[in-house]
Amino acid sequence: MPNMSTHLQIKQFPCLSDNYGFLVHDSQSGQTASIDSPDADEIMRQADLAGWELTHIWNTHHHFDHVGGNLAIKAARDVTIIGPKAEAARIPGLDIALGEGETAMLGAHKAQIFDTPAHTLGHIAYYFTEQNMIFVGDTLFALGCGRLFEGTPEMMWEAMQKFAKLPHDTKVYCAHEYTLSNGKFALSVDGENPELLAYMERAKALRDEGKPTVPTTIGAELKANPFMRADSAPLRAAVNMPDEPAAQVLGEIRRRKDNF
Ligand SMILES: [Zn+2]
Repeated sequence: MPNMSTHLQIKQFPCLSDNYGFLVHDSQSGQTASIDSPDADEIMRQADLAGWELTHIWNTHHHFDHVGGNLAIKAARDVTIIGPKAEAARIPGLDIALGEGETAMLGAHKAQIFDTPAHTLGHIAYYFTEQNMIFVGDTLFALGCGRLFEGTPEMMWEAMQKFAKLPHDTKVYCAHEYTLSNGKFALSVDGENPELLAYMERAKALRDEGKPTVPTTIGAELKANPFMRADSAPLRAAVNMPDEPAAQVLGEIRRRKDNF
């Protein structure tokens, strides 16, 4: 018998204007999790097309384009909703609240929970340890990071540091297709970075073919994402903050991005 224990199938599809829907399917147990619920109808349609029975919704944070489909899916399908402990009151239909160090299970597969507050104060990410992939919601984007709606630059830098410790080939599933606009901004602060220039060429080619730039990898982001590089000399020079803590540099880059 082949060892299928690490095998999970991922189905990724566009939702709303620029969100991604993700279905994670374990063929052994037959369980299927939707990561967030941007669009109930589209998520159920995609599950049906794949022949997968929806059993879970795993929410990353309370924003409407991430939880807006929770109740409609729960009314139509027998799903268990998992979400962030620190935002439990704001996750519609929540069944199980999880936080840092706890584990979500899909069949026999473990996803470790990371608290990644910054975009929202209770935001969590789901890291499948065996499969080496992470669903980061709106914390980390390809060439960007989430807006600091509720948290501080220090919190976001801490989240970036957590991600940086993962294996570099870890697949990163971001919740939006923002890469080209993020990249335009990244070039404004790190335009001499050959890794960033090469990354943008690849991203443009993918988008020209109508393909997603997500998932990315931790290694690619460490080389090209200005928010993960807030401790690097070129970024410090670009914002004229040679000696300030990396979190402060990240805060300045984030302010510039907000006004870009
Ligand atoms: Zn959000």
